[in-house]
Amino acid sequence: MIIGCPKEIKPQEFRVGLTPGAALEAVKHGHQVMVQTGAGIGAGFEDADYLAAGAQILGTAEEVFANAEMIVKVKEPQAAERARLRKGQVLFTYLHLAPDRAQTTDLLASGVTAIAYETVTDARGGLPLLAPMSEVAGRLAPQVGAWTLQKANGGRGILLGGVPGVLPGNVVVIGGGVVGTAAARVAIGMGANVTVLDRSLARLSWLDDLWQGRLITQYASAAATAESIKTADMVIGAVLVPGAAAPKLISRAQLATMRPGAVLVDVAIDQGGCFETSRATTHQDPIYEVEGIMHYCVANMPGAVARTSTLALGNATMPFMLALANKGWKQACADDAHLLAGLNTHAGHLTYAAVGAALDLPS
Ligand code: NAD
Repeated sequence: MIIGCPKEIKPQEFRVGLTPGAALEAVKHGHQVMVQTGAGIGAGFEDADYLAAGAQILGTAEEVFANAEMIVKVKEPQAAERARLRKGQVLFTYLHLAPDRAQTTDLLASGVTAIAYETVTDARGGLPLLAPMSEVAGRLAPQVGAWTLQKANGGRGILLGGVPGVLPGNVVVIGGGVVGTAAARVAIGMGANVTVLDRSLARLSWLDDLWQGRLITQYASAAATAESIKTADMVIGAVLVPGAAAPKLISRAQLATMRPGAVLVDVAIDQGGCFETSRATTHQDPIYEVEGIMHYCVANMPGAVARTSTLALGNATMPFMLALANKGWKQACADDAHLLAGLNTHAGHLTYAAVGAALDLPS
């Protein structure tokens, strides 16, 4: 199969759909790989790395889209990219179609077979192609929060780990899923006192067993949440209610109960945010202050560490990418119900019920 990897064109997107390592695997399996020149630069991969892996470098996105039987990307195709897709071609990337009618309409009109990373499932009921980005955002959260806590950035002037004779900072993580667990791990590593609140007792029990007393778990009642933020130096919002906007767990009025200069890191901002005062920010201008409390609400946190994120995403997508290339999409999806769960559009038909329901389209 001819596999194509164009350079991402969405603003501030530095990741790339295929690493040189993934290209090498595909070439070893007998496939032809075509990469747009400069596609890997943002993630630290040169054209020479792809050439060494046996891929071809093409000068333009047009050539990649025109030649490839399967396009492998990171972000949903932008309008200019959608215009280049065609029937019989496979598109393997993040799509997030439910809130995006224009993209859905274009994909249906193109006839492309679109397989969305975010709806591929695994045997444990998880989303294996979303999890790596949650791991990245979670591990990044205490790091960006610690930077925001510095005095010059508007924070309380607290060193999370303390020093001998000085108490460490308090980190409260709301939501103990993939993001929350990764955030707790790094906050513990930095030496902070860590409390994780969740509504899943099973999750809290698992965290308690895992950390053997090194973190405190608490059921996320409104009262417990309100109490825990009063002594927090950093609160990390990491909740997810699948298919719904994030619940607002800290109100504007509650900010007055917090320590001045404390930091809120709202990782759930991509689902609308879990603090009333959250609004999406960018890597260029990531923080702002409300009622004396610093907010960090970057909606695409993994973009800050494009190389790590590209490698992590590539590790997760590679087996699926190879199955699609080796067997063709039909057989690969027939053999693997979890990959089939990723199929969102095919030959002008919407094949994912939740997207149909969200957009009131037949599926
Ligand atoms: P997850 O499903 O693994 O975990 C979510 C957890 O939230 C679950 O344990 C659930 O029990 C808990 N929860 C739900 N409602 C709650 C409530 N009211 N109070 C306390 N806990 C509650 O999800 P995840 O992968 O950890 O993702 C968390 C959020 O981070 C999602 O919104 C995701 O989209 C977002 N995210 C953002 C970025 C970014 O760059 N900003 C990157 C990756 C993920």
